[in-house]
Amino acid sequence: MKIETQCLHAGYTPGNGDPRVVPIVQSTTYTFDSTEHIAALFDMPTEPMYSRFANPTVDAVEKKIAALEGGVAAMCTTSGQAANLLSILNLCSAGDSFISTGTIYGGTVNLFAVTLKRFGIECIFVDENATREELQAALKPNTRCVFGETLANPALTVFDIQKFADFAHDNGLPLIIDNTFPTPILCRPKEFGADIITHSTTKYMDGHAVQGGGVIVDCGTFPWDNGKFPEFTEPDESYHGVRYVEAFGNAAFIIKCRMQLMRDMGCYPSATAAFYLNLGLETLAVRMKQYCINAQKVAEYLESRPEVESVCYPGLESNGASYELAKKYLPDGCSGVISFVIKGGRTTAMNFMDALKLASNVVHVADIRTCVLHPASETHRQLTDEQLVAAGINAGMIRFSCGLENVEDIIADIDQAFAAIQG
Ligand SMILES: *Cc1c(COP(=O)(O)O)cnc(C)c1O
Repeated sequence: MKIETQCLHAGYTPGNGDPRVVPIVQSTTYTFDSTEHIAALFDMPTEPMYSRFANPTVDAVEKKIAALEGGVAAMCTTSGQAANLLSILNLCSAGDSFISTGTIYGGTVNLFAVTLKRFGIECIFVDENATREELQAALKPNTRCVFGETLANPALTVFDIQKFADFAHDNGLPLIIDNTFPTPILCRPKEFGADIITHSTTKYMDGHAVQGGGVIVDCGTFPWDNGKFPEFTEPDESYHGVRYVEAFGNAAFIIKCRMQLMRDMGCYPSATAAFYLNLGLETLAVRMKQYCINAQKVAEYLESRPEVESVCYPGLESNGASYELAKKYLPDGCSGVISFVIKGGRTTAMNFMDALKLASNVVHVADIRTCVLHPASETHRQLTDEQLVAAGINAGMIRFSCGLENVEDIIADIDQAFAAIQG
């Protein structure tokens, strides 16, 4: 199936007389004929047994997202934050470190730099333009994985997935990619060497500002038995001595994540949440294409305005390195999100945003409706000035998320807001 078809049909194939639409299985538990059957499920979790870590509605959505990313299996979480947290905790324990570029979502920076640190896990931040020598220098004997974001929120720089995949693999480490903004419609990180892919499904995948969520996809590519990951090859005493690689092959990562972390932490979405997410996924391919068309026009328009200092959108030639990387990683378009810096700094940015009428001021991005956010004073206000610079954020930066309105209406709204702040 092509990806447009997978959006509609992957993950759920109704049998004769079954509901056409993935049903909401609103039950915390499941009935089985025998204790023996349940015991077998503890060995090989092939069917849902308890909704803290598995549910048939969520399972259908997990299978769909795994198919879209070309992975072997996926696990949904209650948020994108939970997805990134669990993807790291599945590899790192207290005393370990991992490498991440600093050009990532502000919430993730805080999770990595502050909260994980409190649990004894060190994140070593590197520049995304670092050379191989600089990357090698950041490695420690206890480094367990490498992390990056395909299209950085809100810096909108393009991450060189292949460069970091080669670096990670040459050092026996897996690469985790947060692919939230492109979605698998615009970029499939597995094709460039990613081993684990995460998403905040709250953004384009849901797309309608209806349901928060996250997901972790296991690409099934990483050799966990390379000697560096004994917790994948040695018996897990907390799970009746299972050896994950031996028992689950190339789905070892995601099953370990579900059976250890989801079991113990319980950040699993409800059936209804998965149902809403599935509605978004059904139209994802169509929506992503139109977002790219609208945003390209808006980015070009913003760049032509004298009030604008700079526009970050990898579809613009002026974006240099990101424009070049986008040709490789985002050939079909660069999503609907644009960041631009308005002349006049923080106050002018806030006045401009308040003058918009069609675009709403929200704490959200990647919605079906056009919306704006001021990173420096909102999502990223917990970052220090240094971290703001590392994340590519200027105080006059506005994150402009193009919706699916007619692009002429979006541009007219920008136009009137510029006029309003002049007056
Ligand atoms: C929003 C976002 C997250 C966090 O997701 P939530 O669903 O809000 O928890 C993580 N990564 C990226 C790139 C995001 O845009």
